Amino acid sequence: MFFNEDHNDIRDLAREFAEKELAPIANEIDQTDEVPQRIYDLMAEMGLFGLKIPEEYGGLGLDTRSYVCVMEEICKKSIASSLIMSSCNSLSTAPMLLAGSEEQKQKYIPKIASGEEFMAFGLTEPGAGSDAGSMSTRAVEDGDSYILNGRKTFITGAPFAKNTIVFAKTNPEKGAKGITSFIVDMSLPGVSVGKHEDKMGLRGVATSDVVLEDVRVPKSEILGEVDRGFITAMKTLSVGRIGVATQGIGVSQGALDEAVKYMLERKQFGQRLADFQSLRFIIADMETKLNAARMLVYNTAYEMDMGMDVTKSAAMAKLFATESSLEIVSAALQMHGGYGYVKEYPIERMYRDARVLTIFEGTSQVQQMVIAGAIFGK
Ligand SMILES: Cc1cc2nc3c(=O)[nH]c(=O)nc-3n(C[C@H](O)[C@H](O)[C@H](O)COP(=O)(O)OP(=O)(O)OC[C@H]3O[C@@H](n4cnc5c(N)ncnc54)[C@H](O)[C@@H]3O)c2cc1C
Repeated sequence: MFFNEDHNDIRDLAREFAEKELAPIANEIDQTDEVPQRIYDLMAEMGLFGLKIPEEYGGLGLDTRSYVCVMEEICKKSIASSLIMSSCNSLSTAPMLLAGSEEQKQKYIPKIASGEEFMAFGLTEPGAGSDAGSMSTRAVEDGDSYILNGRKTFITGAPFAKNTIVFAKTNPEKGAKGITSFIVDMSLPGVSVGKHEDKMGLRGVATSDVVLEDVRVPKSEILGEVDRGFITAMKTLSVGRIGVATQGIGVSQGALDEAVKYMLERKQFGQRLADFQSLRFIIADMETKLNAARMLVYNTAYEMDMGMDVTKSAAMAKLFATESSLEIVSAALQMHGGYGYVKEYPIERMYRDARVLTIFEGTSQVQQMVIAGAIFGK
């Protein structure tokens, strides 16, 4: 209903890649806290970092439904492996596509699409998460540059990013209407990266602080207009939500598959777990919830491809797909009994990986604010 043959073909390719290359090493990625370079090289070869990026900037120029098909297959096996791909296709490049000059787009996007360079997205601060507009990072005009001071926190990929999109207050008295976005070269004097956070899940991709101390950023690296950066950030997050929602349905399907497999093998009281009606009903509920989530995600992707405003539908997809993923993954772990609680089985990792999905790129409560705002008009 939502997909054509091209979508199905790219899904098959992604499924093959995930089953052959990711499934065997997903637990190793978690334990070593590192995605092997070989995996990134393969993803780059397949064009995945630029899947949704327009061809004129070096991407494959595919639509959102293709992106969802690929992300879903990868996340069934390893959400961590999807993280840099989703960043490159949304948080790293959407701000430039939305607000950047042609020169900036030509300079930065092709290298992100090819996997040569990574650009991080620096919005969150220690004191400003859901209320990102209350940030305290400052940018003060000085000749042909701005001087940046502040600290960004939980920044995905910061340790290996070539550049970071940093949001900073240029006119603090104007609140969120006084925020500007800058492309900050991570090798500039005054830029440093904090400790690699020891995360509960999604291990394999570093998350760190970015510290800015008197960093001189040329005016040519301002992204969009001065004081309009917050709009760029919010628009980026709005379109980026489809990626996290897809991570939710991917990990849910992965967990459901693991539960079914285990229930067909494990016997108690003289029969397979799959033969206990009470457990079968739980599986039926999991499948139903997952399909409801999937419909929201696919529908949002379709609406994006049709050029519709998806502010509300993307928030609903993210809210439902990620909240239901916590329920589905937890139920799948329960089916494994004690074996679900040890690292030998992938479900233990999936349970930890899924936990962040209701938190980053806007918590569930933030999604509720967006949905309610769309209903009440503000
Ligand atoms: C693994 C990981 C990767 C991340 N990557 C990035 C990144 O690359 N770039 C980036 O900029 N950020 C990133 N983040 C940050 C992430 O987006 C924030 O953690 C998130 O937005 C929540 O902010 P907070 O942690 O400060 O929580 P808070 O905003 O302090 O929220 C705490 C709790 O209060 C609730 N809450 C807050 N305000 C309200 C309200 N008005 N009404 C009801 N409930 C409310 C929240 O929903 C939450 O449950 C990442 C985070 C993680 C964990």
